[in-house]
Amino acid sequence: GATGQAAASYDGLRLTALTKRYPNGFTAVRGIDLDVPRGSFFALLGPSGCGKTTTLRMVAGLESPTSGSIELAGNDITGAKPYRRPVNTVFQNYALFPHLDIFENVAFGMRRRKVADVDAKVGEMLDLVELGPQARKKPAQLSGGQQQRVALARALVNQPEVLLLDEPLGALDLKLRRSMQIELKRIQTEVGLTFVHVTHDQEEAMTMADTVAVMNAGVIEQMGSPAELYENPRSTFVANFLGQSNLIGGSVVRRDADVVTVDMQGIHVSVPAARVHTDGDQGWVGIRPEKVLVGDAGAELDAPGNTIPGGVVSDVSFVGVSTQYLVRMPWGQELTVFAQNTGRSKIFSVGEQVELSWRPEYAFLLDRSQDVN
Ligand code: ATP
Repeated sequence: GATGQAAASYDGLRLTALTKRYPNGFTAVRGIDLDVPRGSFFALLGPSGCGKTTTLRMVAGLESPTSGSIELAGNDITGAKPYRRPVNTVFQNYALFPHLDIFENVAFGMRRRKVADVDAKVGEMLDLVELGPQARKKPAQLSGGQQQRVALARALVNQPEVLLLDEPLGALDLKLRRSMQIELKRIQTEVGLTFVHVTHDQEEAMTMADTVAVMNAGVIEQMGSPAELYENPRSTFVANFLGQSNLIGGSVVRRDADVVTVDMQGIHVSVPAARVHTDGDQGWVGIRPEKVLVGDAGAELDAPGNTIPGGVVSDVSFVGVSTQYLVRMPWGQELTVFAQNTGRSKIFSVGEQVELSWRPEYAFLLDRSQDVN
């Protein structure tokens, strides 16, 4: 029940030191702290097996935590029975009743609980998910995406405070998944409820969520807006999991107020100062492929950039919107470059010598000592 502790009260969903050790001794979730703002679209993103589903099941009450707590709008719900929580879940295999039509599938729970105004509420939900005209069809007569929307309507009609979505689009083909991502986001904005969406698909998380928490091996590696995570990853795991990164080993040789100078394989480059860096620190300079300029394109930098000579083009693929290069650097590493096609840009060929450059502010510096993987 409510604890009424004003100081601890948070109007969203709060996980504190949440841990799950399974009876076989495996710890799937390792003391995570997470604040999910009320009314936000929140994505829990991570590779298979990292503990996303376990976390979601603890929030739903389907799995009990080994330790830690779960609070919703200031109420401790850690030990509450699933049906006592203002939480509903949409699963990947949405399990609609095949013999009931769409309308009755959505109405089912409310009819059992003898709720008033069922017809109006169901009608409103079917309009929200744009299935009003399909109300009298059976699930088998609908597409996968439409069935998923029925499952969503069925969960939303109960007016939960938090909707949990466990890989809800996983069963759909790519094109349908893309359109459902936009649709889900629209519905969330319209109803204004807190959505917690579990996915291993970084593009899906970035497309839909206001806030993304990246999970790896039972811990939260980093949390932030999609742009923050992309532009400023704090670990090699996040840098590689969200899009592609070039990571070049180096050591800090100088630290100024905002800028750190890194000796990168004998070449000095400037990187925005992040956290710890002191002289001699080993790190990774990270730069996204689309931020790297090839050859003369670097001359367009209005401020002095970081320039690395001596690259040799080892692969070229023309992909329409951009040309993707692999460039072998003097120290043997291949860097990936996405050069935007402006129509005027020169296309380089395999074997050509090129220099690579980028604006210092586009690079990020990662602390190598933090990387265990
Ligand atoms: P996926 O995307 O594949 O579902 P996930 O990130 O959701 O992965 P979980 O399903 O939470 O991961 O599982 C996390 C880890 O806990 C996995 O290594 C899994 O094998 C293990 N695990 C899950 N359920 C149990 C259980 N009942 N007993 C023991 N280990 C379990």
